[in-house]
Amino acid sequence: MRQRKTASETWIRNAWVITQDSKRAVFEGSVRIVDDFIAEVRKGAPSRISSGTKVVEGRGRALIPGFVQAHIHLCQTLFRNLADDLELLEWLSERIWVYEAAHSHSTLRTSALLGIHELLSGGTTCILDMGTVRHTGSIIEAVRETGIRASVGKCLMDHPKTTPPTLREKTRDALHEAKSLFAQWNGAENDRIRVSYAPRFVVSCTEELLLEVARLSREQGALIHTHASENLKEIQLVKKLVNCENIEYLDQLGLASDRLVLAHCIWLKPNELGILKRTDTSVAHCPSSNLKLASGIARIPEMRQKGIRVALGADGAPCNNSLSAFQEMRLAALIQKPGNGPRSMRAQEALDMATREGAKALHWFDKIGSIEVGKRADLTLVNLSHPENLAPVPRRPKDLAETLVSSLVYSAQSQHVEGTWVDGKLLYWGGRVRSIDRDKLVKDAREAQRQILSRRRR
Ligand SMILES: [Zn+2]
Repeated sequence: MRQRKTASETWIRNAWVITQDSKRAVFEGSVRIVDDFIAEVRKGAPSRISSGTKVVEGRGRALIPGFVQAHIHLCQTLFRNLADDLELLEWLSERIWVYEAAHSHSTLRTSALLGIHELLSGGTTCILDMGTVRHTGSIIEAVRETGIRASVGKCLMDHPKTTPPTLREKTRDALHEAKSLFAQWNGAENDRIRVSYAPRFVVSCTEELLLEVARLSREQGALIHTHASENLKEIQLVKKLVNCENIEYLDQLGLASDRLVLAHCIWLKPNELGILKRTDTSVAHCPSSNLKLASGIARIPEMRQKGIRVALGADGAPCNNSLSAFQEMRLAALIQKPGNGPRSMRAQEALDMATREGAKALHWFDKIGSIEVGKRADLTLVNLSHPENLAPVPRRPKDLAETLVSSLVYSAQSQHVEGTWVDGKLLYWGGRVRSIDRDKLVKDAREAQRQILSRRRR
């Protein structure tokens, strides 16, 4: 006789629950996880705990929806500190493309594991990843094994003039592999893995490729993930190549829609902002990367005022040089203040971008992005009782909410994360990512870096 599998049940009790629901409700309470779902969210302690239920003590901790990072390059984690103090086009052509071309299936896997280790231990539960030109399946396998939620796309580069020969592919071959990955992986692992289309940027892609990507996205409902208007020289080059502005071009080819996620968007003309709004296109804001590559400061408060959806992302390890969602939230708020005033980007808005807005941009908001009954249990527990981030506990609920959100955005750091769950599975606890052998990872990463440096061809 077949036995029914018993449900696994966990109570996270007496935490400050930062729900990020439509009312941004915050209270001291408890959350019950049953299998992969949030089954109950209540104020105060659980009324009764049935036997066999795991109990996680949340006192002095904030329980938040896991961070969603809408622009990541797992393939670049191994290149951290190998491409510093450069501007975008030089950074790409002299370093990043050279290293990406030197990846093997196995070094790429190590790079992805290294990135996922950092993301999970810093409370990020979901990412949009740009893949790389070759072996992107290896990144998806790392996603599958580790348990993180991800939408991954093979990076598409087919332009005969503006891409390096070491990464350039024939249009047909590039699209063929991207489509195969979609067929093989999209919706896998109970919809924890999705596949997107990732033309690197307008400069690296032919019109034929972009038109086909737009068509596939429409037909399959897949996301398109690309870089846009990050750097002044880039948009000048785009204008030279296609004779119109970057976002205008993407719109003309039919890419602009709520399925398009554009990383950076710093140098936009007023009519391009209008296109983003009209087509409901999402922006992935990457403040660390924008500062480090001297790209500029994106006009995020203006975009949000216009009703353009903005998510956050750490970009890649060599342009940041960290994958911390805390750092991106903090910087997203800070960099707007000198130019636009102290309330131009409040802590609550930064937290929204790192959770709800990210989930919306990735079309996953029906399942993640807030703590609500029926959603998937993608959760992060942050200890706000360390000496360096000790959160005060005001009596009035409104003050409590404001103080806790401020603590999360302005003083908490990745190392204050205690637990990370994806689909109800505890993936990070007690300083350990449970699916990754940390010592082996460090050893493998050293070896993979050695291989990439010895294989690189300029
Ligand atoms: Zn990027």
